[in-house]
Amino acid sequence: MTDAPDIPVRVRPEIAALPAYRQGRQAGAEAFKLSSNENPYTPLPGVQEAVAAAVEFNRYPDATATALRERLAARFDRTVDEVHVGAGSVSILAQLVQAVSGPGDEIIYAWRSFEAYPWLAVVAGATSVTVPLTDGARHDLDAMAAAVTPRTRAVIVCSPNNPTGPVVRHDDFDAFVRAVPSDVLVILDEAYAEFVTDPDAVDGLRVLGGEEFPNVVVLRTFSKAFGLAGLRVGYAIGHPRILDAARSTTIPLSVTAAAEAAALASLDAEDELLARVREIVDRRDRLADGLREAGWEVPQAQGNFVWLPTGAESLAVAAAFDAAGLIVRPFDGDGIRISVGEHESVAKVLEIAASVVRDLPTGHSGRRIA
Ligand SMILES: *Cc1c(COP(=O)(O)O)cnc(C)c1O
Repeated sequence: MTDAPDIPVRVRPEIAALPAYRQGRQAGAEAFKLSSNENPYTPLPGVQEAVAAAVEFNRYPDATATALRERLAARFDRTVDEVHVGAGSVSILAQLVQAVSGPGDEIIYAWRSFEAYPWLAVVAGATSVTVPLTDGARHDLDAMAAAVTPRTRAVIVCSPNNPTGPVVRHDDFDAFVRAVPSDVLVILDEAYAEFVTDPDAVDGLRVLGGEEFPNVVVLRTFSKAFGLAGLRVGYAIGHPRILDAARSTTIPLSVTAAAEAAALASLDAEDELLARVREIVDRRDRLADGLREAGWEVPQAQGNFVWLPTGAESLAVAAAFDAAGLIVRPFDGDGIRISVGEHESVAKVLEIAASVVRDLPTGHSGRRIA
């Protein structure tokens, strides 16, 4: 909300109570912006050219991004009807939540997890049911299944979990979906799938390949691994009936021709982009290992970010990084998330983190038992 004086326009009270969206701070020239899980590599020339060629923007785009859906369907061996494209996977999340829930209905997700989830439920008028993460900052799928009631309309599973990092294991995911009633939508949010190296991690496309779980929809995005965050394009794969429901709630024509062209060009350049992903994964592993060696308690890191459980010290620790030119993302009272950025940022994060951990009180959650 703005700080304008009260005016008589009536806003839904739950909307008025929402905090205004605050973006990760923009970095100054010499700072590293490690607060939004963005890809540090600038776009490939071929992708830039594809965007530059999408010049007829006096015309509306193709409403259902047919060319991209066909391409994704072929890529993942699905039919075109089993693919839905949106202006970022967050917008598809919003469509799905609106399609299945309203006042009196419940949406279950782990907490802490992606900060958009509570907001999506509020906007749909639904009720959030949050299930605390276990030790190691993992989803507690047994507790999530046990939280299902006749009012539950969707469960969101985030793997790797943003902002804490661990994956859900595929055996656990399968057992979870079997335990959930088949009329409850299970949304598997895999925004960081391409960074996963744990062989036991769930892979949504394998789950869907089995035909066993028609109530599961998998969400992926071009924003993170493929570096198109600023163009807004993501996709869902799942049963056509569920995707049709999502399409019915869509704000029409929100995926631009430029975004579609960039996604197609990125699929053309997939090998090159995945080589960049491997570089980022390598940096991530060096970062996580280095932080643990320095004395930090770091949960499994399978996205393009690491999590420091700094608890009550989170804002102070984030300020220390900030002062050193490293913009990180604090979650007050809980921890800080540091994105894996440019090559040069890794040594700098390790240097500052090593000095910060020594200032934490003994026995603090962020410290490994020494
Ligand atoms: C970044 C992210 C998304 C998707 O972002 P878009 O840019 O909207 O595609 C979805 N889920 C999680 C958990 C994310 O971190």
